[in-house]
Amino acid sequence: MNSFSSTNDPSKSNSEDISGIDLLNAVDKRRNFAIISHPDAGKTTLTEKLLLYGGAIQQAGAVKARGEQRKVTSDWMELEKQRGISITSTVLQFAYKGITINLLDTPGHQDFSEDTYRTLAAADNAVMLEDAAKGLEPQTRKLFEVCRLRKIPIFTFINKMDRPGQEPLSLLDEIEAELGLSTWAVNWPIGSGDLFRGLIDRSTRDVLIYTKTERGKQSIEQRYKFDAPEVKELVEDDLLQKALEEINLLDEVSAQRDIGLIHAGELTPVFFGSAMTNFGVKPFLDTFLELAQGPVARNSASGPIDPTTDSFSGFVFKLQANMDPRHRDRIAFVRVCSGRFKKDMTVRHARTGKNIRLSRPQKIFAKDRAVVEDAYPGDVIGLNNPGMFSIGDTLYTGQHIEYEGIPCFSPEIFSWLRNPNPSSFKNFRKGVNELREEGAVQILYDNDQSKRDPILAAVGQLQLEVVQHRLENEYGVETILEPLGYQVARWVDGGWPVLEEIGRIFNCKTVQDSWHRPVLLFKNEWNLNQLTEDHPNLILSTVAPVV
Ligand code: GDP
Repeated sequence: MNSFSSTNDPSKSNSEDISGIDLLNAVDKRRNFAIISHPDAGKTTLTEKLLLYGGAIQQAGAVKARGEQRKVTSDWMELEKQRGISITSTVLQFAYKGITINLLDTPGHQDFSEDTYRTLAAADNAVMLEDAAKGLEPQTRKLFEVCRLRKIPIFTFINKMDRPGQEPLSLLDEIEAELGLSTWAVNWPIGSGDLFRGLIDRSTRDVLIYTKTERGKQSIEQRYKFDAPEVKELVEDDLLQKALEEINLLDEVSAQRDIGLIHAGELTPVFFGSAMTNFGVKPFLDTFLELAQGPVARNSASGPIDPTTDSFSGFVFKLQANMDPRHRDRIAFVRVCSGRFKKDMTVRHARTGKNIRLSRPQKIFAKDRAVVEDAYPGDVIGLNNPGMFSIGDTLYTGQHIEYEGIPCFSPEIFSWLRNPNPSSFKNFRKGVNELREEGAVQILYDNDQSKRDPILAAVGQLQLEVVQHRLENEYGVETILEPLGYQVARWVDGGWPVLEEIGRIFNCKTVQDSWHRPVLLFKNEWNLNQLTEDHPNLILSTVAPVV
């Protein structure tokens, strides 16, 4: 079903019926965020608990469910069923205390982190979720780096306090030392594991007492003044004293609340809790909403565009194919950046200059969908995409706007994609191109013209398997993957002329991306370091220049 039809000039439509007050109010009352974490830290659990507090406006099939339920929620993709994994990204919208919150959910499996990188491009805030026993883990570090590129505020939630964990002070030290991010603990734990007694609110010194319920999967959260007799009754003196000493130390040496630094992504408010038992989640949500930044002005080719600008604009940050196999459709996820989006609106597609009428915009995803009547900055809408959108495309009304593109991030595994059957070459090429445009995988080519087979470049092995599976199922092409033994890719600042000057590079393969820019592949970090030591002026990047 094609939901688009061309109409006349979008610059004349849409804006006159937007009430400025509505828009200001809507922007003021919206927050959006994504959760960054390593698998198993508790992202699904925390998401479920956050939704409990909000009247969920939309949560269709969104939270990764377990067991039977999982089959129900994401049975639209065969591979998901086979593997029991969650590949889909979804967006959840819920209302809490008069604020509309958009949680940009990301795929559960780390092999699909490229999708997560792009989703972060649409997020205004990030919640960094850590397991108290494990501290910073590899996937979290990588995703943090992506947030840092965009300088978005990061809120840290240290989870699983009901289990034995690392010392809270060392967890903060680790964030400071390894991520170079200052920390400001909003609350502080009293004990951990079996001795977890609750949290002290650092600004009021109120104590939030943790009482486990019988089955251990829930808890009761009771707030007392610090000197209330209940606190003395319920908390062992040595645990309370230890927590107090640590807080006093923090008061002396650590950073304090500074909203400017938080919004610049330089200071992270830190919260402790236990998502599973729903302890510390509400205080987190309350403070998060107080401190998180609202929809921010986005950089475009003509400067930053304020979200309260009357005319609508947004950009595509993700494409997802075949969410509904009966329709073989593709959905383009658009982050609304300015103005009000209205159903049936005619917008201009910046890259092609075409006018498009958006007659069946959708909110949410996975299985259930609802048609959107309107949407505001910070929201995400899903558009049926009969091949007209690419990642990074801008849609707008009024004056021409083109948002900065979304960068490609460094792939880590590489594989030749062979098509053994020459008669299916046309479908093979079409499939590879469409999957690349969709962002399912990056495509590189050997410099040697005789080797024209594409090289698939991905963050995880499953990503390659999905591409292979889809080529077979959607394009009727059976392919063979032939791994290349490289693990590290870097783009070269200055491109081909710089490489020519350097001449031959050992232990390195030079290939090109889809825009004919050179990409250097290394077997390991050691070979990469060798090159940068030999050529200190060479600037290499893990992020592809934006096209
Ligand atoms: P995800 O992979 O990050 O989405 O993690 P899940 O939410 O699926 O959680 C992974 C496992 O950790 C599950 O078995 C959860 O029940 C468990 N878990 C999550 N939060 C907590 C917590 O606060 N305390 C404890 N003890 N377990 C938790």
